[in-house]
Amino acid sequence: MPENIKPTINILDNIRIVLVETSHTGNVGSAARAMKTMGLSQLYLVNPLVKPDSHSIAMAAGASEIIENAKLVNSLDQAIEGCHLVIGTSARSRTLSWPMLQPNESGTILVKSAHQAPVALVFGRERVGLTNEELQKCHYHVMIAANPAYSSLNLAMAVQILSYEIRQAYLTEVSETNSSSIMPLSEDEHYPLAEDLERFYQHLEQILVKTEFIRTTNPGPIMGRLRRLFTRARPESQELNILRGILSSIDAATKASKITK
Ligand code: SAH
Repeated sequence: MPENIKPTINILDNIRIVLVETSHTGNVGSAARAMKTMGLSQLYLVNPLVKPDSHSIAMAAGASEIIENAKLVNSLDQAIEGCHLVIGTSARSRTLSWPMLQPNESGTILVKSAHQAPVALVFGRERVGLTNEELQKCHYHVMIAANPAYSSLNLAMAVQILSYEIRQAYLTEVSETNSSSIMPLSEDEHYPLAEDLERFYQHLEQILVKTEFIRTTNPGPIMGRLRRLFTRARPESQELNILRGILSSIDAATKASKITK
C-alpha cells in the first residue's frame, strides 16, 4: 500500500455483509474469505440453514475469525437494526422495480454512508434469492450485470465482486482525502435507521386501515408501492418525524370525529 494511503478501518467496520438463510456452509466460508481480502469484517447470518462448521472454516482459509465473530440473528430486521442504508442484491429484476445501482455505485454509496452509521449489503438464499418482502426493506437493489441467460452467480462470488467494489470506493476515498479520520457528520444528512423506517411503515399501514383507505389488514400491493415511493424520496430523520407527526394528527382527528359522531 502506498505510504499516503492509511487504512481507515472504522469505515469498513461499519459495513455489514448480511447472508440470509444460507444453506451451504462452504459458501459462508468462501464469503468470509471474500470479505477479508477486501478488508471487511462484519458478517451477519440470518437463520443459516446449517450452522458454520469445519467446511466453512476450511473454505474461509485465513478468514475463520470472521465466521467466529459472525452475528447469528433470526430475522433480516435484526441484521439491519441500526443501519441507515440497506442495499439488497438480486440476480434478476423483480415484479415491483426498485431504485437500482450498478455495483460500483453501490460501493461508493456504502462507503460514503458508512462514515455516519452502519450500512448493510444483503445477500439471498442460494436457490431463491431474497423474498420480495426482504427486498422491499432495502433502499436500493444492485445487480451484477451477467449473462442474461444465466445471471445467477454463486453466492460467495457475488459477495467477492461487490466487496471488491466497496474496496475500490474506499481506496478512492482514502487517496482523495489522504486522511484516516472519519468525516464529521453533516447536520442535514441524517437518515433514519432501518427500524425507524419499519415503525413508520407500520404506523402508516395502521392509519390507512383506520381511515379505511386500505380496507383489509392485508393491503396487497399498496404498501409495497408506498414503500417504493418513500424509498425513492429517502426522507431524512427530521422529515420522517414530520411524517410520523402527520400520521399521529390523523389518528387524533379520526378518534375525535368518532367521539363527536
Ligand atoms: N435464483 C436466485 C439466485 C440466488 S443466487 C434468484 O433468482 O434470485 C444467491 C445470491 O447471490 C443472490 O440472492 C444474490 O444475493 C447473489 N447474486 C447472485 N447472482 C447475482 C447477481 N447477478 N447480481 C447480484 N447478486 C447476485
